[in-house]
Amino acid sequence: MFRLPIFNFLLSLNRHKLYLELLFLQYKLKMKANSFILKLILVVSASTCISIASNIVFAQDAGKSSISKSTLTNTPNKFTVIAHRGASGHLPEHTIPAKALAYGQGAHYLEQDLVMTKDNQLIVHHDLTLDATTNVAMIFPTKARADGHFYVIDFTLDELRQLSVHERKKDTGEMKYPARFNNSVTPFHLHTFEEELALIKSLNKTTGRNVGIYPEIKSPWFHHQHDKDISLVVLKALKTSGYLNKEDNVYVQSFDSNELQRIKRTLLPSLGMDIKLVQLIAYNDWQETKEKVNEQWHNYDYNWMFEVGGASQIASYADGIGPWFPMLVDDNLSPSTLLSDAKKAGLAIHPYTFRLEDTPQQFESFEKWLRYFTGTLGIDGVFTDQPDRAISLLLQNM
Ligand code: CA
Repeated sequence: MFRLPIFNFLLSLNRHKLYLELLFLQYKLKMKANSFILKLILVVSASTCISIASNIVFAQDAGKSSISKSTLTNTPNKFTVIAHRGASGHLPEHTIPAKALAYGQGAHYLEQDLVMTKDNQLIVHHDLTLDATTNVAMIFPTKARADGHFYVIDFTLDELRQLSVHERKKDTGEMKYPARFNNSVTPFHLHTFEEELALIKSLNKTTGRNVGIYPEIKSPWFHHQHDKDISLVVLKALKTSGYLNKEDNVYVQSFDSNELQRIKRTLLPSLGMDIKLVQLIAYNDWQETKEKVNEQWHNYDYNWMFEVGGASQIASYADGIGPWFPMLVDDNLSPSTLLSDAKKAGLAIHPYTFRLEDTPQQFESFEKWLRYFTGTLGIDGVFTDQPDRAISLLLQNM
């Protein structure tokens, strides 16, 4: 019988009764469930126990964590773990199983990337196109645009529900991360924002935890080009689900500074809301965001965000930044201007993406990489594809 690490952990905490209950549950389930579903249910069950541990070592809400603690220490004892597209290092990204697994692994926040369908529904999906993670070319071979890509925005929700989701692939058809989950037997599908919010709300109820959500409004400029006000639709969905103000366990993120300012200054006040916002930061050559100037769409210039005073300007409309992790350090791994200024401005700092496969050569392990950023540099949260590894690191530092 396999034993989840949480069992050993509970024993070490003298939580023998919980341990025995979980072991019994594991035994009962093993009698009648197949192993994949069994493991999934068990990790979700184990989340209650992880929560007990979590409450001992760190606050679950990044909003409560201190970013003024910039002392040089190598021992991170508190940082926020944001499951990047779910437990995407273990199961296909942005699927319900990947979210349930991340929840069970003890993540503090689950991330949702949001894109709109032709019939104005929000689906949880990273790309504007469907090519890299679904079988769209097989199911709807004639629906590609002239550029050869299949766009979410050209499909109705009913059509999207006919697609299967698989692990991310390159244009060549090879797996982007070859060591990751790979079978064509287990079914995975796209789902709506509403469906994921309901999942998290229900799990929070059954486990007694308060796991947060971290929705990203994908390419608002692209949606505007198609006469869709995705930001307004996202905010209305959050309001319906009871996410209203800064005390609620949600961060809304976007790469689009103009849109975040519109959200902060116009949309949120008009909806009677004031929730936490995060400015994602890109380099200009990624062509991540466009803005309309004199009726023409131009590539957005991010350079001001890296200059002295940039972070305090961001702090006028946002509560945090989501930079690519190398933006926080110089060539010697010392804090960059962006990092120092963001701390001074009181911004939460949640860099992306701590992905096992992308561990930089300077660090001997994923854990040392995490330790350096959360301990030595004192950042207060990470987007990671491996929330289990980040939670383990936190538990080791009890
Ligand atoms: Ca994202």
